[in-house]
Amino acid sequence: MNNKVNILVVEDDSAVRNLITTTLETHDYKYIKAANGQTALMEASTHNPDIILLDLGLPDIDGIEVIKRIRTWSEVPIIVISARSEDTDKIDALDSGADDYLTKPFSVEELLARLRVTQRRLAGTKSAEQQEEKEFTNGELRIDYAAGSVFMNGEEIHLTPIEYKLLCLLAKNNGKVLTHTFITNKIWGSSFDSDIASLRVFMATLRKKLDKSSKTGQQYIQTHIGIGYRMNKL
Ligand code: CA
Repeated sequence: MNNKVNILVVEDDSAVRNLITTTLETHDYKYIKAANGQTALMEASTHNPDIILLDLGLPDIDGIEVIKRIRTWSEVPIIVISARSEDTDKIDALDSGADDYLTKPFSVEELLARLRVTQRRLAGTKSAEQQEEKEFTNGELRIDYAAGSVFMNGEEIHLTPIEYKLLCLLAKNNGKVLTHTFITNKIWGSSFDSDIASLRVFMATLRKKLDKSSKTGQQYIQTHIGIGYRMNKL
């Protein structure tokens, strides 16, 4: 079996590293280990892993710097691991190109769930690249880009222009956490506190419209308190 997903685990704390690698091993993943940033960069370029799990607090290079360097040559999904007190680091990491994050201490189930989300995102990106970008579907949700219309279970949902732009941005990054700053910069071209406050209001009405029309009761937009939003990939 050579088609196992290969994961680069970057973590200087050996207890956490062992917890991760043991979990990966029992769930049929392959892995490579790195205990610092230098080794991580080297392993990433030589082994071309499918996913990188990256601790932000490394002894040599800062985790954010590791992300920036990897992003100069690779789009490999990066899941950041950091402590709860480091929300600003998570935001910097996401804005630097990380795909998702895990908060320490995390459970084995959380780790596996994040990996599954990332794998689904990878599979989705590949098939989306093959299709022409005329429409987007995710569960009951469908966006017809040419018509600028949104449907849930075939029924049209009426969105304001900003709600529509927000939904398209989330859809384009389906499964990925987007920070408040990233979203407001894309939608309003700025990220003042007032933009972030407006974003909250627009997101609330958008979510309400989606939730009301969903027959399965699926949550399409997930809030990450203090960080941003994600479209749940179904
Ligand atoms: Ca650390």
